[in-house]
Amino acid sequence: AIYRTRTRDAAGDRRCAAHGRVDVTTDTGRLAGRHALVTGANRGIGAAIARTLSHAGAGVTLLVRDAARAQVVADTLTGPHAMVVADVTDRAASHAACEQAVASLGAIDILVNNAGSVESAPFVRSDAALFERMLAVHLMAAVHTTHAVLPSMLERGNGHIVNIASVAGLWGAPYVTAYTAAKHALVGFTRALALEVAPRGVSVNAVCPGYTETELLQTAIDRIISKTGRDANSARQLLLSDAGQLRMVTVKEVANCVLTLCSTSPGSFTGQAIVLDGSSPA
Ligand code: NDP
Repeated sequence: AIYRTRTRDAAGDRRCAAHGRVDVTTDTGRLAGRHALVTGANRGIGAAIARTLSHAGAGVTLLVRDAARAQVVADTLTGPHAMVVADVTDRAASHAACEQAVASLGAIDILVNNAGSVESAPFVRSDAALFERMLAVHLMAAVHTTHAVLPSMLERGNGHIVNIASVAGLWGAPYVTAYTAAKHALVGFTRALALEVAPRGVSVNAVCPGYTETELLQTAIDRIISKTGRDANSARQLLLSDAGQLRMVTVKEVANCVLTLCSTSPGSFTGQAIVLDGSSPA
């Protein structure tokens, strides 16, 4: 049962203009000449973002842990692309991967910090190590890649950074205190950095999806099934009703929102935390 206690932050509760209604078939060429680096791009939301940005004309670097699986995604990309391997929680490896990406496809114009994982447990069983793992993969990973990429963006006076947070970055959720705290930290990082770099042509935004159809969601559903004996359909309905969602968000909706953010003039739309929560029918 997560996302139950909603204490919405009005400033953060912006809904993406795209909200799944952008037809990317019309977007070919919109990002031509841009280089986007997407972390955790071998599956789920990251793979959808990589495909969408590639379809829009960007050269795309997949930053992944699992190169074999990422090759399946790379094979579907329509333009220039590269793959670099790193665990995003490893600062040195992340910096090296960003340098390799620049060597392959040139300076990075778009950075999408997407890699992440969820570990759930009641707070009394959430030890310090669990909190450190969640902060490492959600906050510090974005800090490492941003440290690697931002100086060049500032020099060129142009860049987009998009952090894939969550609605758990904006309101409370039981049994995921560490994940929720880490996603709140990522949203705070987004808002503060956005103010700092806006005058220099770099935008920094967060996308905050509700439950989205990926393996990460399937893991949550499987956990409910094993703990409660519910069937899959009932487990999905439980998650939706707790989250106040009419339906699951699709990876394409998240990817289209990222595309919209990266298509605006840098700096003109920044510091936002955009909610995609499946509150309207598809
Ligand atoms: P998936 O579990 O499907 O994919 C997660 C991706 O992150 C994988 O590519 C995984 O790589 C990668 N990853 C995880 N840890 C690391 C690491 N230490 N170093 C490098 N890569 C890593 O998840 P989603 O696509 O659903 O989630 C993507 C993002 O969206 C996450 O930040 C998540 O918190 C967020 N989100 C997801 C929601 C959902 O309901 N699905 C809702 C709201 C936000 P590997 O294959 O090697 O494990």
